[in-house]
Amino acid sequence: MPPPSPAVRRAPAVTVATIIAILAALLLRNRGPEPQPATAPPASFSAARAIAFHRAVLPPVPRPIGSQAHDEVLRRLEAQFRALGCETSIERTFACNPTASCAAVANLIAEVPGGASGDRLLLAAHYDSAAAGPGATDDGVGIATMLEVARAIRGERFRNRVTFLITDAEEEGLIGAEGFVADAAASRGAAAVINVESRGTSGPSYLFETSRHNRWLVGVIAAALPRPATSSFFFSVYEMLPNDTDVTVFKRAGYTAINFANIGNVGQYHTRLDDAAHLSPRLLQHDGEHVLAMTRALGNSELRQMTDDNAVWFDVLQSFIVSWPQGWSLPLSLLMLLIVIVAAAVRVRDGQVTASMITTGVASFFFSLFAAFLAGLLAMWISGLRSLGAMWVAQPGPSIAAMWLIGIGTAIVVARLLYPFAGFDGIFLGHALCWCIVAFSLSMVLPGASYLALVPATALAVCAIVRAAREADEGWLVIVCGAVAALLHFPIALTLYDALGQPALPIIAANLALVATTFTPLIAAAEIRSALLSAIFAGAIACVGMALFLPPYTADAPRALSLRYVEESGGAHWDADALTPALHDAAPFDLKPVTSYPWLRQRSRAWRAPAPTLNLAPVELTVIGDTRGAKRQLSLLLRSPRGSQRLQLAIRSTSFESMRINGVAPAPRPARFWDPFAAGWHRVGVHGTSEARIDLVFRDNQPVELIAIDATSGLPPTGAALVSARDRSNAVPWSDGDETMTMRKVNL
Ligand SMILES: [Zn+2]
Repeated sequence: MPPPSPAVRRAPAVTVATIIAILAALLLRNRGPEPQPATAPPASFSAARAIAFHRAVLPPVPRPIGSQAHDEVLRRLEAQFRALGCETSIERTFACNPTASCAAVANLIAEVPGGASGDRLLLAAHYDSAAAGPGATDDGVGIATMLEVARAIRGERFRNRVTFLITDAEEEGLIGAEGFVADAAASRGAAAVINVESRGTSGPSYLFETSRHNRWLVGVIAAALPRPATSSFFFSVYEMLPNDTDVTVFKRAGYTAINFANIGNVGQYHTRLDDAAHLSPRLLQHDGEHVLAMTRALGNSELRQMTDDNAVWFDVLQSFIVSWPQGWSLPLSLLMLLIVIVAAAVRVRDGQVTASMITTGVASFFFSLFAAFLAGLLAMWISGLRSLGAMWVAQPGPSIAAMWLIGIGTAIVVARLLYPFAGFDGIFLGHALCWCIVAFSLSMVLPGASYLALVPATALAVCAIVRAAREADEGWLVIVCGAVAALLHFPIALTLYDALGQPALPIIAANLALVATTFTPLIAAAEIRSALLSAIFAGAIACVGMALFLPPYTADAPRALSLRYVEESGGAHWDADALTPALHDAAPFDLKPVTSYPWLRQRSRAWRAPAPTLNLAPVELTVIGDTRGAKRQLSLLLRSPRGSQRLQLAIRSTSFESMRINGVAPAPRPARFWDPFAAGWHRVGVHGTSEARIDLVFRDNQPVELIAIDATSGLPPTGAALVSARDRSNAVPWSDGDETMTMRKVNL
């Protein structure tokens, strides 16, 4: 082989520097915009002013439906929107979601004055919080955003009517949104919605979801957003996850929709740490700038547009959006494949490479990804030895850094092993072919993600043909392709852990190996190769070692662990979501967990200890009517004499046909629906009221098994020792929080 030219000798160092520069730029952009002070121009969004609204409206306590704080927040919100010149009304209704979680909800509707009589653009956030935390970010950031946007657009005139919709009971299953879309009078004219949600307390404001047929909408978004953090990849992945926000309901109702949310610090989500101290002004500024820009853009757009297809889109360094119709991805990836094949044929004809060398390059590509995934899996297993079972750990930094290093290092090792058999051209052309094949496959199965392979494939194809035609120097080709792949993939690699937790780690390693295949053809033969590899693997080992010694939970990133006191006719017990040594010392918990809610498809485990009986007034289940015939109609009254605002009725029957709760049938299922219930089980949830009538219809007269539960927040005083043992375990209550329940089982 000829000695490399000076440009080629410099290229590896330039490649490494480029990759590091792109990563640094992304990390900087991910911090979010500078929060604007209260003195910012009145037409712009100021995080400082939004925080003032936040303080005025949201108390530092949880506000789940049925709580006093909840009703107080509704009053304050209405007063604030009125003071900003909006016409307000409260929509009170009883609504049920598709899984029969129901609530007596109160949605706040605030109309911006002076709107035309046409379609309505909704600006939505929810004002309830989970029972376990004050929801300063979830969805306090949404609430503060809405108030500051209402202030900023005062006096502006829009083509469409602009309506703030502050929904209730989102945390209990999007029930306020269900009530709104089911209410023809309240939702008349609603055609589009901009929603702000939160999962965690920090991070950029991602535009992660839109309605379908979004090609026209992505054009509006691209023109409007000042600092977009978005891609059709998020959209595709989100569609596969069992997560929902109010937008799921709005999309089912046919609205044009865009959804903003953050996902950083997920360990604080739905806990008492989602408080004002952990509120991120940068996130608030980012959400606010997004919502304000989209309000002005959609406020003046035709809202009932429909394009047949979706767009493929992504942001570049949160500066601008690139997009094209989804249908273009497939022909474009075929075109790139053709270009690479032509380039390869030319190089083979010129005697620079052989078909078998290119085949070796193809093997190098897939082997790089596979080896990186396996190495990542092994490193995850070692670094996770102390935190088995934790989805997110307190300090994931070292584990994530290890995956980046392992991914890049493994890809270099693989290319280096195969270089003697393939040379630069064999590996480069083999990798280019594979990128095209991946682009083709993604265009078929996950078109929203196609850009991740298609754009690098385009760079590789162009470079391949340039090299074939003009003997272009390999150094610069590799730098260009590496930079393109890094710009597209690093935002994903930086988000995967927050989105998916520990299982994402080996995927991150494989993702980095994928990026590295654009530059490994060069690094494999470079002089700095050995020094670079030593540094990479020494770094990876150090990171895994650090991860192994870091505690999985800290006071600021605690374990989620709620406690329950449950009383039934046979006695009483404590249930814990997890068992810590301190908890085990405080009560004689059984070391083997039990299935606490048999009606759930995903079995929920609880650790159980005997508890003293307090003789609470038990939940009541009264038969109002029981008509047997061709069908059985069973009418029940479910009531909590303790005034609980959280009731459940689980129903086990193989002949269940339908149900109504206070006369309301569960809402229809959305396009994407996961049935949370085990086979043969159904369940009714009732929130915000302490009694409900439940009418059940069965196909035959077989006996039915019923389990009624009522729950109130907090443990009885006899649970004080358990609470303090939990608090000593770097654990906090989450979601519904600690609860006192009575349970009654009846066969009818
Ligand atoms: Zn929320």
